[in-house]
Amino acid sequence: MARTLSQLAGLGVTVLDGVGPARSKALAAMGIESVLDLLLHYPRRYIDRTRQAPIEALRVGDEATVLAQVRTCSSRVVGGRRRMVTASVTDGSGSLALTFFNQPWRERQLVAGTELMLFGKVEEFRGRPQMTNPVVDLIGDRTGRIVPVYPQSEKAGVMTWEVVRMEAEVLRRAGVFADPVPPEVLDRFDLVDRTTAFTGIHTPGSMEDVTRARARLVFDELLRLQLRLVQRKRQLESSAPGVTHRVDGPFTQRLIEGLPFTPTDAQLRVMEEISSDLAAPCPMHRLLQGDVGSGKTLVALVALLTAVDGGHQGALMAPTEVLAEQHALTLGQLLAGFEVPDDVSDTLFAAAEDAGDAHRPLRVELLTSRVPAAQRRRVLAGLAEGTVELVVGTHALLSDEVDFADLGVVVIDEQHRFGVEQRAALRSPSSTATVPDVLVMTATPIPRTAAMTVYGDLDVSVLDGKPPGRTPVLTSWTRTSAELDAVWGELRHEIAQGRQAYVVCPLITESDKLDAASAEQTFAELTVAGGPLAGLRVGMLHGRIPAAERDEVMGAFRSGAIDVLVATTVIEVGVDVPNATAMVILDADRFGIAQLHQLRGRVGRGAVSSRCWLVGDPDSPDGIARLEALVGSEDGFALAEVDLDLRGEGTVMGERQKGRNDLLLASLRRDRDWVVRAREVAEDLVGADPSLSAHPGLVDDLDTLLPVGDDTDFLLKG
Ligand code: ADP
Ligand code: MG
Repeated sequence: MARTLSQLAGLGVTVLDGVGPARSKALAAMGIESVLDLLLHYPRRYIDRTRQAPIEALRVGDEATVLAQVRTCSSRVVGGRRRMVTASVTDGSGSLALTFFNQPWRERQLVAGTELMLFGKVEEFRGRPQMTNPVVDLIGDRTGRIVPVYPQSEKAGVMTWEVVRMEAEVLRRAGVFADPVPPEVLDRFDLVDRTTAFTGIHTPGSMEDVTRARARLVFDELLRLQLRLVQRKRQLESSAPGVTHRVDGPFTQRLIEGLPFTPTDAQLRVMEEISSDLAAPCPMHRLLQGDVGSGKTLVALVALLTAVDGGHQGALMAPTEVLAEQHALTLGQLLAGFEVPDDVSDTLFAAAEDAGDAHRPLRVELLTSRVPAAQRRRVLAGLAEGTVELVVGTHALLSDEVDFADLGVVVIDEQHRFGVEQRAALRSPSSTATVPDVLVMTATPIPRTAAMTVYGDLDVSVLDGKPPGRTPVLTSWTRTSAELDAVWGELRHEIAQGRQAYVVCPLITESDKLDAASAEQTFAELTVAGGPLAGLRVGMLHGRIPAAERDEVMGAFRSGAIDVLVATTVIEVGVDVPNATAMVILDADRFGIAQLHQLRGRVGRGAVSSRCWLVGDPDSPDGIARLEALVGSEDGFALAEVDLDLRGEGTVMGERQKGRNDLLLASLRRDRDWVVRAREVAEDLVGADPSLSAHPGLVDDLDTLLPVGDDTDFLLKG
């Protein structure tokens, strides 16, 4: 009978020859407990013996693979503390010196006579070829052209050749694997069968075998993930009772008509996508990706007002207090003069019109940890009674004390700032029978294929383009102190024209305390008599400034009473002061691409052209690439692609999939095409058959490798 993965998951490694308690303990230290774990323990890389070079042919500067035998090995302490192990190896054609720093155990490993495969860069020392800290593989008596090298094994005391032997045994004893992926799918993408794939990845005859094996295994990983995501999406859509909202009600109409501008086409399109979700009986789970300044707030407000139009409540959750306060302010202004009937409790607004003319202002309240206790009690009471229509808050909204009378729409701004359990928590308030519609917004665009993977259970709307009348932000890279002096001159010039500016302080550590110190020091240096910003009205904002004072500074900056705001990244998200047209980011190379893009998004919000100076002189190629990317593009989606290329998928995956990561081989970066294909197949399969009853093999794989816990939010849990 053909072998399934779940069968192997049920077998402990001790079933293998020569694996007793000691070996199984060492394997467990590598995370390998079952035979399936071992099968899915893939080589880190391969040595292609046909590419190995004789020592006599090595050239300085080459990266080379050498097969050689240890002649001598010794160790000594250098520079007082560092232990240096040196060895001499030979392959008959010549001899090569090896030097290892801080790897004292090499002395035990490199016993005279041992055969090694070495990989490293060739240097020259006293006229002889040498490698420093090369990769060493003990190859034992392995033969074959392609030699797999397994990760982690040295540390756990399991030799890579032992793993090779065990994998061979697993493959031999497993025989033929059941293949749960429909043959027409394999045909369509020219994928090898599962037996060939596992054989090819562990015991390849050629590098081409590895490539074909990898493609199949990558596809399987991505397909499993997409099947789960698509299933989960279906389930959310079908099982939970949602609110059927009344769209195009009086409040939303009045808001749109009263705007000082016309919504952009992109805004209209996204509002349409959202209102069709809202009008439908099942709850919305939608992600809105829109670059900084693309006008997400209006879209959010329309969604929230749709809830109010139907007599429900809306909640807007922001990641920081500054941002929550700003949103509350914006909403309060835009909704000034809006009234709701005062004498009705449950009835729909429409029915209330002839109920009398008692009206009161629509209530928008703020709920953060800074709201004083008495006020907080009033807000909580209003939310529970239903007399607060809209609430804006931070994660304080998630507290158990918060009860909604009838929560209809939740908007979560800057989703990436929240842990994902939080999203799940707001989604299901204990007090209502129905599930509110949820819109999550992010200003950190992620590439399409990454979104498909990370947010694959959500519908995605993209707010592309910016409102008209914006001028691009001219970004320059400032390397020298002479250039920086010129920057301060230009900044003063902007301010002389009545504009305002930000100076963003170096991010020294993750610690609040040090960031505060650095903001304070920068502030002092800039404003001291004779300093670059002497004589200007300069304010300071960082996380350790007391709340009241922070409000005052922010208020003063908004009203134009302050010219320059020296700040840490507290201003990163959402702060909206259109008169601010200049930004200097100090030590810019210490920030990531997404963060720099966010920061820069604070300027360029008005009709006047803006400037951003990135100050920094990085040595690392990545640091240089990041600054170059920012200078070269203002498009958040393009920058996200660069970021993915530079940093890999860990950054986009991190938040949602730590710990529950089935992607062993697949890379969102390298395997973009496979992500799209896997999604397509998953949609077809689940679309035709939501429980996959016609594909018991797939279900079995999923239960084995991506089990759904009692909590259906398995993918949401960190
Ligand atoms: P973000 O997507 O970064 O949250 P905001 O919603 O804060 O962007 O919008 C940025 C600025 O653009 C705000 O000042 C807002 O009033 C303005 N704005 C939004 N939509 C339009 C539009 N259609 N036309 C002109 N200005 C707009
Ligand atoms: Mg915003």
